[in-house]
Amino acid sequence: MTRCLDCGADRTADQCPACGLTSAAAELVVRRRLVRRTAFFLVGIIVFIATSRVFPALEIDAILIFAGLVFFLSLALGYWIDLRARKRQEVEVIKRIYFGMIPVPWIFAGILFLNGKLDNSRPIRVRATVVGKFSTNGLPRSRRLVVTSWRGIRRIERIAVDQNDYDRFQRGDDIVVQAQKGTFGLPWISGVYRP
Ligand SMILES: [Zn+2]
Repeated sequence: MTRCLDCGADRTADQCPACGLTSAAAELVVRRRLVRRTAFFLVGIIVFIATSRVFPALEIDAILIFAGLVFFLSLALGYWIDLRARKRQEVEVIKRIYFGMIPVPWIFAGILFLNGKLDNSRPIRVRATVVGKFSTNGLPRSRRLVVTSWRGIRRIERIAVDQNDYDRFQRGDDIVVQAQKGTFGLPWISGVYRP
C-alpha cells in the first residue's frame, strides 16, 4: 500500500500523514462515500428515465441504450472500487473516474428536460401510419408506436407514447405526429393525434 485509500496521499506508515486515517479507517470512509455517491447516481438514473418520458426524444431508444451502457460501465467501476478497497489495493484512479461519472445521469436528465422545456420552435405536424406497436414492462417501462418514417433516412420510427395513446391507436391507423426541433437539436415528440 503506497497511497491512502481516502485522500490518495503517498504514505509510508499505516497512518496517512495527510488525513490522519489508518488504512482500516480509510477503507471504511471510502466505502461509505462510495455508497452515498452511488445512491445519488442511482437517483439520477431514475430522474433521467422520468425526464425521458416527459419530453420523449425521437431517438429515445438509441439514447436509452447509450445511457444504459454508460451507467452500467460506471456502476461496474463502483463495484470494482469496493472490491479493491476491501483488499486495501490502490483505488485512486478508478475513484476519480467513477466519482467524475456521478453527475452524468443528472446532466443527461437536465439536457433532455431543457431540450423540451425551453423549446419554442414551431411544432411540425406530419402524417404517419402505425405499422406496429410494442411495450416492455421492465425497467424502464416503455410504450412504443412503430410508424412509417417521414424523414427519408429510414423506413420506420419508434415513437414513445403514454399508455393512453398506446391503447387508442392500432396497427393500420393513420395518425398525425407532432414533433419539435428541441433546444439542443434533439427532436422530440410533443403529441400524436388522429388526422
Ligand atoms: Zn489520507
